[in-house]
Amino acid sequence: MPRGSTNKGPPSDDFGWKWGEAVDGQRSRVRCTFCDRVITGGITRFKEHLAAKKGNVASCYQVSSHIRKEVAEQAENL
Ligand SMILES: [Zn+2]
Repeated sequence: MPRGSTNKGPPSDDFGWKWGEAVDGQRSRVRCTFCDRVITGGITRFKEHLAAKKGNVASCYQVSSHIRKEVAEQAENL
């Protein structure tokens, strides 16, 4: 789907937006499509939530282990 000049769609090209959506159009607040928790701190923090990275954010308890692994691997390559 081509990206036009509207504000629809993900706020950036980051792959993390596959599983999150900006709350009220603010990309610093990301709602998890798995557990409905709102992660503040942006898409990077949200990916830590999905990947269950310890330290900064609560882990997602509903994401599948397959996606958790995918996010963790892709996040390492950034
Ligand atoms: Zn979650």
